[in-house]
Amino acid sequence: MQPNITTVPFHHLTSGDVLSLQLYRFSDSSPGSKAGPKVYIQSNLHGAEIVGNAVIEQLIEWLTTLEPDQFQGEVWLVPACNPLSTNQRTHYFSTGRFNPYDGKDWNRIFWEYETDPQGLLSFALSQLSLDRATIQANYARLIQTQFAQLAEKLRSPSGAPLSEHYRFHLQSLCLDAEYLIDIHSTSNQGLDYLYYFPHREQSAQFFGLSWGILIDRYDGDAFDEAFIKPWLALENCFAQLGRLLYFEREAWTLELGAGMQMKPESIQKGVSGIQNYLLQKQVIRGVPPNPSDSKLPLYLTCTSEVKKYYAPYGGMVYPTVSLGESVVQGQVLYKLHGFNKLAQVPVRIQVIAEQKGIVYDLASNQAVNLGEYVLATF
Ligand SMILES: [Zn+2]
Repeated sequence: MQPNITTVPFHHLTSGDVLSLQLYRFSDSSPGSKAGPKVYIQSNLHGAEIVGNAVIEQLIEWLTTLEPDQFQGEVWLVPACNPLSTNQRTHYFSTGRFNPYDGKDWNRIFWEYETDPQGLLSFALSQLSLDRATIQANYARLIQTQFAQLAEKLRSPSGAPLSEHYRFHLQSLCLDAEYLIDIHSTSNQGLDYLYYFPHREQSAQFFGLSWGILIDRYDGDAFDEAFIKPWLALENCFAQLGRLLYFEREAWTLELGAGMQMKPESIQKGVSGIQNYLLQKQVIRGVPPNPSDSKLPLYLTCTSEVKKYYAPYGGMVYPTVSLGESVVQGQVLYKLHGFNKLAQVPVRIQVIAEQKGIVYDLASNQAVNLGEYVLATF
């Protein structure tokens, strides 16, 4: 079936041009069709992280081969979801990680439903005897009501900064989804892995990736966090009241491959992982799942186990480890050779691992100033 395609303008420019999002929607709109869960998928929120655009383009190609009655839910896709960062360049490099107006990371700007702990507890108490679907619908209504108030500020005479307009348009598309997938990659050289949230380990397997990082320490205002945190807070509230309840809400950030590159195996993993996820979640039916997709081992760790290494000196970096390699405490990770202006020969430093882990990210730039990022393990 062909998707329903809409263009969402959000940024009117001095030149008269308008930056827009383009949304591709697949669902069975025939009378009597089943209204199943909605999956929202976006890519390229950060400018250098382009792999997800290829993943979405291939997913669109695949979804158009399906018949309408194979959709038991809806699939919404937004490639190149941040035109400002997608198009930003310095020389040959895509540098669109930060909003040039205020310097903020584009993935630390999102709106999150907020209520005080007492208010949330009162809400949970009022819903304690209800079934999950009803509670979910009631809570979703509260979130939507608070979110709708943002529109008033955008329309007010005093207006709002660009990032508030932008996030409003993007979050309008996904706030009522059951499942959210945000496709990123490192800006450097990285493994293919995902970030996931508590109590979602089972579904994490569906993506077929070999590594997963549990978010147990929040960055704040990230796209996936803003979506799922209110639901996790309500689950915790119910747990305090003695009722274990997990809502049908999941948020995933896939990290696929390298910055500014379309690695075929990263694209393939993204496409097959999301296809399998859609099948396992029964958003799509009538396609046999690929048995290899959900059986790969998933090495699970958490954000508090991540160790990032920053250069202790300016110079040239020579890694002694490679991506995916397991390292032990005390092992040499990289050598750093640096010049000086002290009339002395260059220094040579060996940097060792502070703890054991797997190298999952390596800086592309092997020339560093003091304090620059070199590599990370989890
Ligand atoms: Zn990113």
